Amino acid sequence: MALILKEVTKRFGNYTAVDGLNLSIPDREMFGFLGANGAGKTTTFRMILGLLDPTAGKITLDGKAIDYSQSSMIGYLPEERGLYPKLKVVDQIVYLARLRGMKKQAAIKELGYWLERFRIPEYFDNKIEELSKGNQQKIQFIAAVIHRPKLLILDEPFSGLDPVNVELLKDAVIELKNSGTTIVFSSHRMEHVEEMCEYLCIMQKGKPVVHGSLKEIKRSFGKKNLVIHAD
Ligand code: ATP
Repeated sequence: MALILKEVTKRFGNYTAVDGLNLSIPDREMFGFLGANGAGKTTTFRMILGLLDPTAGKITLDGKAIDYSQSSMIGYLPEERGLYPKLKVVDQIVYLARLRGMKKQAAIKELGYWLERFRIPEYFDNKIEELSKGNQQKIQFIAAVIHRPKLLILDEPFSGLDPVNVELLKDAVIELKNSGTTIVFSSHRMEHVEEMCEYLCIMQKGKPVVHGSLKEIKRSFGKKNLVIHAD
């Protein structure tokens, strides 16, 4: 799903969190959003998802303004994880999958696939609060992808994970991209974006400092400058 942002601005009172952002995210590509704390990444994601209205500018997905009819095609891993600690993993996932129009049996099958893939098949019936933080993050990721969305937005998907789990999650993201999902993810770390994305945007104080294909950016700026901008 091609995602286009035209002159998108978000102000909170006098504070401009996102300032005239222009982006074109090609269908079936992986797009990286890089920037330090407060750069405006989460605010941009919330506007793409329709959770916040832009103060100015326009966002379209496949040529149409985003509305609720598209929500079953979009997956979102929020920065603040939002699972119910007292629910069992299976009940949490089935509940969220049903909200997106999936049948219970299809959701259970898909959950089984992901738990195996993340090497935690034994946690199917555990309560969320019984899982480690890293495993909770994997469940949150599964919640975002259970319905096989066409557009997947991941806010800091690798933060707080150990290197083994970062690799597991990266492989899963790459698999989804290869199966045709358009993916946008944010990170503080250049190496994640550089390794996985062909296109990227580096944000600083609400403004894109650089955006375009990684190859072009590297040619124009050189790797050293990119790393300085990243955090
Ligand atoms: P982080 O990695 O820390 O989440 P970010 O790049 O995602 O950073 P945002 O969360 O988009 O940044 O925040 C951008 C700026 O907008 C920050 O200075 C933040 O304090 C401000 N901001 C975000 N949401 C609100 C809000 N609802 N009201 C007021 N200011 C806000």
